[in-house]
Amino acid sequence: MQRIRNIGVLTSGGDAPGMNAAIRAVVRTAISQGIKVKGILRGYRGLIEDDVKEMDSYSVCDIINRGGTILGTARSSRFMTDEGRRDAYEIYKKNNLEALVIIGGDGSYRGALEFQKLGAKVICIPGSIDLDIASTEYTIGFDTATNTVIDAIDKIRDTSTSHERCSIIEVMGRNAGHIALWSGISTGAEEIIIPEKKVENFMDSVATRMMIAKKKGKKHYIIINAEGVGNSIELAKFIEEKTNIETRATILGYVQRGGSPSCRDRMFASIMGAKAVETIEEGRFNRVMALQNGHFVDIDLEEAVHMQKGIEEDYFRISKELIR
Ligand code: ADP
Repeated sequence: MQRIRNIGVLTSGGDAPGMNAAIRAVVRTAISQGIKVKGILRGYRGLIEDDVKEMDSYSVCDIINRGGTILGTARSSRFMTDEGRRDAYEIYKKNNLEALVIIGGDGSYRGALEFQKLGAKVICIPGSIDLDIASTEYTIGFDTATNTVIDAIDKIRDTSTSHERCSIIEVMGRNAGHIALWSGISTGAEEIIIPEKKVENFMDSVATRMMIAKKKGKKHYIIINAEGVGNSIELAKFIEEKTNIETRATILGYVQRGGSPSCRDRMFASIMGAKAVETIEEGRFNRVMALQNGHFVDIDLEEAVHMQKGIEEDYFRISKELIR
């Protein structure tokens, strides 16, 4: 087996707190094994544009505690084309890369799957605040993001109670309801609206339940709305008109992406980064790092890309049971 001497690392798609810890672990583990590392700036776009810098142990100092990604990230429409990926592969070869570590979400995984068909060797690490990657129970950034969300909801609840208001809080997640479900259970929200469980005329039934709760003496009504479901401001208007209860929408937005990563995100991103390099050293490529049944494993990239992720049915059922 030929020893790998040069690898690249990039972050792609949506950024997530903990990506820096993964970059640091990739760089330090590789260097300790005598492997040189190049950092590719701004994801696949930077790869096409040859935006590459040499990394050493010191280039990843003081980053484990920082949100975002020191390599930058981007979405690249050129990489979606055969021509763009062929250009990227020329740059991969020009930089003498023998493997590429890609830290990103499921879109980045699909890009990686296409890229390896040209001859590149790839290893993916799950980076997504949305927990929407089917192959793994853990994605970098979800823990920090959900903690940011529950902190915000707790604060909104205080003022909501004082004014006896209904608060609709819109959280991220793209088409996945994990952030909404976890933060909804963790804050005792009265309603959790997620795309996976969206029902016809749900707004009417929310309004009815709200009026019942008000009669029972509830002083606040917290509704968590996942962004994939729809417009929270319109929902607030509808509810207020229907119930006569003052209703405000808060869209948490990008605050959910930032901030210092939690212990879990620093820890698991570090382990996955180190294990990604170990996988390369063992001569196994086109793999994705994953947490399955509480263990860190690596699985085939193509298999991972074709997996489907739903919501945890148990969590959803229990979320309903806990609302009284
Ligand atoms: P994330 O990785 O966070 O899910 P995106 O879905 O935006 O974010 O994907 C990141 C990048 O991966 C895209 O900008 C694009 O360059 C690349 N990509 C996504 N899907 C594909 C695909 N089917 N084929 C090739 N490249 C893709």
